[in-house]
Amino acid sequence: AAFAQIEKVEGDVHSFVTLTKEQALKDAGEIQKKIDAGELTGPLAGVPVALKDNLCTKGVLTTCSSKILNNFVPTYTAQAVENLQKAGAVIIGKTNMDEFAMGSTTETSAYGVTKNPWNLEHVPGGSSGGSCAAVAAEECSYALGSDTGGSIRQPSSFCGVTGLKPTYGTVSRYGLIAYGSSLDQIGPVAKDVTDCATILEAITSYDKKDSTSIERKDTDFTSALVDDVKGMKIGIPKDYFGEGLNEEVKAAVLAAAKTLEEKGAIVEEFDLSLVEYAIPAYYVIASAEASSNLARFDGVKYGYRTKEYEGLHNMYKKTRSEGFGAEAKRRIMLGSFVLSSGYYDAYYLKALRTKALIKQAFDKAFEKYDVILGPAAPTTAPKLGSSLEDPIKMYLGDIYTISVNLAGLPGMTLPCGIDSKGLPIGLQLIGDCFEEKNIIRAAYSFE
Ligand code: GLN
Repeated sequence: AAFAQIEKVEGDVHSFVTLTKEQALKDAGEIQKKIDAGELTGPLAGVPVALKDNLCTKGVLTTCSSKILNNFVPTYTAQAVENLQKAGAVIIGKTNMDEFAMGSTTETSAYGVTKNPWNLEHVPGGSSGGSCAAVAAEECSYALGSDTGGSIRQPSSFCGVTGLKPTYGTVSRYGLIAYGSSLDQIGPVAKDVTDCATILEAITSYDKKDSTSIERKDTDFTSALVDDVKGMKIGIPKDYFGEGLNEEVKAAVLAAAKTLEEKGAIVEEFDLSLVEYAIPAYYVIASAEASSNLARFDGVKYGYRTKEYEGLHNMYKKTRSEGFGAEAKRRIMLGSFVLSSGYYDAYYLKALRTKALIKQAFDKAFEKYDVILGPAAPTTAPKLGSSLEDPIKMYLGDIYTISVNLAGLPGMTLPCGIDSKGLPIGLQLIGDCFEEKNIIRAAYSFE
């Protein structure tokens, strides 16, 4: 059924970089046998999943939507994906993304743009745009994405699906091709909160192969799927509803807050300071880490290598000049600059201090509130092409999502309305570290 739907819509939407139909059908047959024998009984057994193309899959091309990895076939599988395979998932393909997860529209891919299934003239968001479009277009039952500064939550919002970024350290990053290692988390993109909680339960594991992995005891996320928000304290950050927020988005998000209140939650406005510093701090830290992480793509060990060169240095230079796209190059230059001697203290260290202050502001808020509620993005999905001319404008669109990564918190977006153009509006719920269950409980009241 998934492949029949793909046949029907993929020509328009282009969610995938690679489809693995033959292997998927083979795997499905094997899994069916195990289900029949009673060896596989979980909720994900036999269910088709799509994976963002920055998750390593043994024997299957993994490109990060970059030309520099146009021939990279990993020899191992990401831990989160392995966990899904153990649960009986059928992998149907690898989804399109912004190159190395840098972007907010899925337009920086070297393999063409993905379009928003709700309206093909609009972007699906990014960087996990392929994963979110695939779920919205019903090409798969669910997908995995990665979120460094909103890349699961923002495209979920633009595509009218539900996406969850777990607390940093919850899902192993082993086999996730790194963008900003201190910010990256893998998470589910699905049709609803129930599916998200179920998938999160399956991919969560302590993994000693990831030095930042955390051993958690409270991972029965589906136990929070209860329709009861009575007495829950919900904070609305005033700073998230000021200038720049589209009026229709604002109205839909505030209406959702009202619904929670009517169901017995205590909803209150508060000041979450430092919001304006989140974007500069994030782009300094993420670019710094990216410039270091991308140093490994040099044409020697794996990936693309330039055809003609004179000597080693010329080979590096030509390979990287030809292999990386404009956005990746911009981040490498910005990151190298803020890490360079003389500027390190002024930019990188200052950004780290800002990150610590943002975490403190959230800590203070969570002394009072169980969940913070706000928009996922300032607007609904923009038109294709409209974000490319002005990268700064694109960066500003990340205002509501990136501080969650800087503070390591869990966050979820779910649909809360449709604007006058017929595009979905997303609502974001943010929880304290390790409190995914609060988010799931609040979100479930909309299901
Ligand atoms: N849009 C942000 C960026 O370009 C976030 C991307 C992400 O979360 N991977 O960095």
